[in-house]
Amino acid sequence: MKILKNIFELNKAVKNYKNVGFVPTMGGIHKGHVSLIKISQKNNKETIVSIFVNPTQFNQKKDFKNYPRNIRKDISILKKLKVNYLFLPEVNEIYKNRMKNFKLNKSDKILCAKYRKGHFEGVLNVMNRLLSIIKSKFVYMGEKDFQQYMLIKRILGKKYKINIVGCPTIRENKIALSTRNKLLNKSCIKKASKIAIKLDKLKKLSKMNKFVDLSKYKVELENKFKIKIDYLEFRDEKKMKLDNFKSKYRLFIAYHINGVRLIDNF
Ligand code: AMP
Repeated sequence: MKILKNIFELNKAVKNYKNVGFVPTMGGIHKGHVSLIKISQKNNKETIVSIFVNPTQFNQKKDFKNYPRNIRKDISILKKLKVNYLFLPEVNEIYKNRMKNFKLNKSDKILCAKYRKGHFEGVLNVMNRLLSIIKSKFVYMGEKDFQQYMLIKRILGKKYKINIVGCPTIRENKIALSTRNKLLNKSCIKKASKIAIKLDKLKKLSKMNKFVDLSKYKVELENKFKIKIDYLEFRDEKKMKLDNFKSKYRLFIAYHINGVRLIDNF
């Protein structure tokens, strides 16, 4: 695996992007990331992974500081997976040039965009920069971060004329794997697992046309598990409209458990 720390090294190492799949990450590599890498490897000759903890998408400095990092372990996992290139830039390398900043439309300010001001602008800006450097035609992203995947697909997929490929959420004991799970103790992990099982059931009930009063259910979950829920909403997959049960839809949640914010969708 070639480790490339700046754009110059990257351009020297990768001349032709014809058969190179790209998996952007913030590190803390887990089985969710691994599944994206394997899908890329199955569909492309070579795979490039980036690890960059992007400061501009954290709306709280403390969250950025506490974000789990373990670059040595990450490198060893990626080597074992036979990833071809790891792009590992410093913040200055990514932000040294001026580029137009993205703004969200009013209709996009839902779910996490409503509760984490500036988060998706930060995500779009860094992905815009990464995609202007790494010119892969296939970029693999997780459905675990469904809103992020949809925004990048719609805005940047179109801009760069590339395929943003959505990949299924990998779970362990029903919990969606996430780098942030490393911040949770055993009892919180158990709780998160129970919450995921309940939400999965709830989604199935709604599928059987059983009426579900989400605002009541939200309060019940908050009291039972001592969590704070930012949102618990059914939205359709395409337009992300509320309670549109005519199209394919998902149940979206964001909640705080012991000071850690988790998101998931079913
Ligand atoms: P992150 O490092 O958290 O920014 O995630 C990098 C990529 O991995 C994003 O496209 C995520 O959606 C994806 N990802 C994170 N967790 C999972 C998971 N449990 N299953 C599938 N993909 C995931």
